[in-house]
Parts: sequence; structure tokens; C-alpha cells
Amino acid sequence: MAKCSFCSRQIEQGKGVIFVAFARVYNFCSSKCMKNFQLGRESSKLAWVRKTGKGKTKAELKEELLEEAKHEEKMHEEKAEEEKEKKEEKKAESKSGKEQEKPAEKEPAK
Ligand SMILES: [Zn+2]
Repeated sequence: MAKCSFCSRQIEQGKGVIFVAFARVYNFCSSKCMKNFQLGRESSKLAWVRKTGKGKTKAELKEELLEEAKHEEKMHEEKAEEEKEKKEEKKAESKSGKEQEKPAEKEPAK
């Protein structure tokens, strides 16, 4: 039995697609796998491939995805924090460099 070149699932006899390219023969279990392959997607990055691929339970996959999301969120936060610090530094510099008095604010006429 052939194996899907994309999600590495076993392909049932008489099912699937055979695709020849780059002097290689690819077997796909479905047109979905073939299309994703042609789009240049990496099967290891696709959740639906992982679901069928490595025998992980749904809960495990969910946890993994959550972990990834958390990690990304943390990275964003750290970046924002850094930028904030930089801005504050700049502010402090310009303040100490030139002591300018703020022009008196005019009260809006009512
Ligand atoms: Zn497949």
C-alpha cells in the first residue's frame, strides 16, 4: 500500500491521486493533500495533518496549540515592553537636553 506524500497516511488501494513532478512520483490520499502540496505548504505545520499523523490525541494537540499561542503572546508583550522603554528613554533625553517652557495653555472660550 502506498503512503501519502503529504500527510503520510496509508492510501487505500484504488483511492488517492498519483502525481508526477520533479522526476518523482508522489502519492496523495486525497485532492486536499495534493492541493496543499502544490501550494508549497509544509505538512508538519498543518494541524489537520498532525491530527491524523502522529497518533496524538485531540487534547494533546489542543494543549500544544495553546502553548504555541501563549509563547507568541509573550513574545509580543516583551517586544511592546521594549519599545515602551525605548520611547521613555528618548523622552527623558529630549527633556534634559533642552529645557523648554511650555507655552501657557489658552483656556478655551466658552
Ligand atoms: Zn494525505
